Amino acid sequence: MNKYDYIILGGGIAGSLLAWQLHLRKKSFLLIDNEDSHASSRVAGGMINPITGKRLVLTWMAEKLYDFNHRFYPRLEKSLGVPFYRELPLRRVFKNAAQANDWLVRCRQADYRPFILNDGDETGLFGIKTPFGYGAVLGAAVDTVPLLNALHAVLGNSYRKSNIAYDEIKPEKEHIRIGELACQKLIFCEGWKATANPWFSYLPFNPCKGDVLKIRADISQHTGIAAGVFLLPFGDHFRCGSTYIWDELDCTATEQGLRTMTRQLENILSVPHALLEHKAAVRPTVKDRRPFLGRHPREKRFYIFNGLGTKGLSLAPWFSRHMADYLLDQGSLLSDVDISRFSL
Ligand SMILES: Cc1cc2nc3c(=O)[nH]c(=O)nc-3n(C[C@H](O)[C@H](O)[C@H](O)COP(=O)(O)OP(=O)(O)OC[C@H]3O[C@@H](n4cnc5c(N)ncnc54)[C@H](O)[C@@H]3O)c2cc1C
Repeated sequence: MNKYDYIILGGGIAGSLLAWQLHLRKKSFLLIDNEDSHASSRVAGGMINPITGKRLVLTWMAEKLYDFNHRFYPRLEKSLGVPFYRELPLRRVFKNAAQANDWLVRCRQADYRPFILNDGDETGLFGIKTPFGYGAVLGAAVDTVPLLNALHAVLGNSYRKSNIAYDEIKPEKEHIRIGELACQKLIFCEGWKATANPWFSYLPFNPCKGDVLKIRADISQHTGIAAGVFLLPFGDHFRCGSTYIWDELDCTATEQGLRTMTRQLENILSVPHALLEHKAAVRPTVKDRRPFLGRHPREKRFYIFNGLGTKGLSLAPWFSRHMADYLLDQGSLLSDVDISRFSL
């Protein structure tokens, strides 16, 4: 039997960055992932955007997360030896005059200032319709597939490609057994698939499907665009997302999804675009929009790190460290994310 202190089930951005924390701390662990190409982390647009929504609101913990990500991702790139992270301005295109006004208010607010790159009075952005103008935000783009593949490769024998059925998981007296594997603590990181997890499905998940397109268009490669839909440059193409669908929980890229995305793209692009790829996945969104971290109330050796919702790439680095500290008894969880906020 192969014995580990920790087994992490699910190697999306949550499980993989948690595994990275255990790797850095030289712990005995195994990360297991089925390498589903439709996993949320592998389909994600890759945008980190600190100011979001119709009202241009600063996202939860924006400053702390930005500072952390700004150091974490470049360091991880260096350790893994592959490029996947790029800081870049995001042009926030205003939908109407009210939004342009909101922006001017934001520009004067001290907590927004570190993330704002101008005061919104620029004119002209080639290929993009900007009838009400735009502002610029400090953003970033993460190319998740090379990140995950490189991280799994660096983990070597601490990573295994496998699909685990829940009925294979046997909590026994000495350890938790999964076939010929055994561990002391099992951390579930299966993304939205955790809605079928017999121990953690009581948590209020609210999964949300989304479409992402890969397109080519003659617009600037030096900026991202946030205009309801987003456009992020990756080499010679752009990634464009996303739809939000709550009543169709599968990863099929449908005609309807493509039509919606194309319509939204045509609303912002004044140049033609060529479609290269269309994918869909389901986000692990949750009702109160805060991650799920913590320990099962009864099965004390079972843990969860999930619920990263629409912002996994901003949240996963800081919260994987937070989760690792908790697992190793080096800190308690923030009450906002601790699953003890829900009862079984
Ligand atoms: C269309 C779309 C666009 C998005 N755009 C962005 C964006 O621009 N920026 C951003 O920050 N976030 C974005 N997100 C959200 C982001 O993708 C998620 O927050 C994040 O990837 C969730 O990561 P996770 O590791 O929790 O889950 P997942 O990525 O779902 O990873 C879970 C992994 O566990 C595996 N797994 C599950 N069950 C088992 C099992 N039984 N055995 C073995 N393996 C298993 C899955 O196959 C998967 O590989 C987007 C999501 C979607 C769908």
